[in-house]
Amino acid sequence: MFNKRIKIKELLAQEPAGQEVTVMGWVRTFRNNQFIALNDGSTNNNIQVVVELGKFNDELLKRITTSASLKITGTVVPSLGQGQKMDLKAVTIEVLGDSDAEKYPLQPKKHSLEFLREKAHLRFRTNTFGSVFRVRHALAFAIHKFFNEKGFVYMHTPIITASDAEGAGEMFRVTTLPVDGTAPKNEDGSVNFKEDFFGRSTNLTVSGQLEGELGATAFGDIYTFGPTFRAENSNTTRHLAEFWMIEPEMAFYDLEDNMNLAEEFIKYIIRYAMDNNREDLEFLAQRLAEEEKQLPQDKRSEMGLIEKLEFVLNNNFERLTYTDAIDILKESNHNKKKKFQYEITGWGMDLQSEHERYLVEKHFKKPVILYNYPAAIKAFYMRQNEDGKTVAAMDILAPGIGEIVGGSQREERQDKLETRMKEMHIPLEELWWYLDTRRFGTVPHAGFGLGFERMVQFVTGMTNIRDVIAFPRTPGSAEF
Ligand code: ATP
Ligand code: MN
Repeated sequence: MFNKRIKIKELLAQEPAGQEVTVMGWVRTFRNNQFIALNDGSTNNNIQVVVELGKFNDELLKRITTSASLKITGTVVPSLGQGQKMDLKAVTIEVLGDSDAEKYPLQPKKHSLEFLREKAHLRFRTNTFGSVFRVRHALAFAIHKFFNEKGFVYMHTPIITASDAEGAGEMFRVTTLPVDGTAPKNEDGSVNFKEDFFGRSTNLTVSGQLEGELGATAFGDIYTFGPTFRAENSNTTRHLAEFWMIEPEMAFYDLEDNMNLAEEFIKYIIRYAMDNNREDLEFLAQRLAEEEKQLPQDKRSEMGLIEKLEFVLNNNFERLTYTDAIDILKESNHNKKKKFQYEITGWGMDLQSEHERYLVEKHFKKPVILYNYPAAIKAFYMRQNEDGKTVAAMDILAPGIGEIVGGSQREERQDKLETRMKEMHIPLEELWWYLDTRRFGTVPHAGFGLGFERMVQFVTGMTNIRDVIAFPRTPGSAEF
């Protein structure tokens, strides 16, 4: 058997008592031909391997270079040096993979996040990205744990969809037809998709919600957790063309139940990371504090990362209607001094990210749930309120990020839904299967979508969404 190793994280939790262990990992540094800092990705902490002078031949020592991979067996002894409790005294060293230090793109020094984005295939080997992606994993795991404990069914909704009716964003087309102009044409010159693979025009999904509703109206509670795609040309620090979304959908829920679940859910997964990834979060908090030192005083966060997460766990999210939010914005000094880039035109306007962030960061200083939005700026499936002008929608806004969750109670009344669809020019016949849920045992139900990367941003304090997904897909960029 080749792999009989102990992970470095587990080893570092032991007491050094002369035990013999085997570790495997990648060299971070090799000092004075004597001290190897070895990392295996289980933690940012390295094991210090001590190489006794004269014990190994020079040929071998020369091959211990940055990022070379090693298998080392040795004995674990109390460290004589400072900064670590144990050393691993090497008995055997095997080089598993050489690494030409001249050519290895990462130096043992600080690199900018922008530089590391160009080296996304290797950035996992840095402390920052080690921490980010271990936290990302923990959050993903916590999400499944949360819903599993509540008896939700994990549903896999399709990636390729035929409906482009949802209108959540611009879609990517899926086709096997040639793109060189030789695709079969209809008489009017448009492409004849009857000749395409599926016999119709198809796209990558922007949301699993509509299919999720089909699940909820049978299982009661379902959630999806999968990739979604939006060809939106928005080059921001919060948008990706390919991102992961969690979409729970619950039968017998109204808007308030929906808000309660969303808040409990967000707190649960943050707590999970706090309990299980403390070391990584502390590292990221430190990193963020250093990054913010470069900023002018008024741009710095008022709280450190850990403090912020604890604050979110210990406080209720502020809940207020869209209408109240507009009033607050209108009356704000910020508005009176004309400091918003986009003017507050009044009721009915769509809130821009700067408005949302003002409410969260300056006014309430905590996460905010806005609800009951004007129907005109929301999707067709949201439940119409009695006032005849708002719908039972809710968005959760997080400090530093803006919108993190978008959800609503769904319109379960067939007549009202169909009328709304007609008003919004949504083809009813294309969504016949969706409308069937309203025909056969319709129930009040609700759901929401949480953008996973925005959640990872929130928990890790990373300011750019490109740094919380392994291989970001953004306008003009699909490397790796
Ligand atoms: P935004 O106004 O920020 O573009 P949206 O209104 O388009 O968001 P929804 O359609 O409600 O968002 O999607 C649900 C959630 O998915 C959002 O709350 C957000 O967390 C996330 N999300 C939406 N678009 C993107 C994107 N392009 N990249 C990453 N996450 C996204
Ligand atoms: Mn959007």
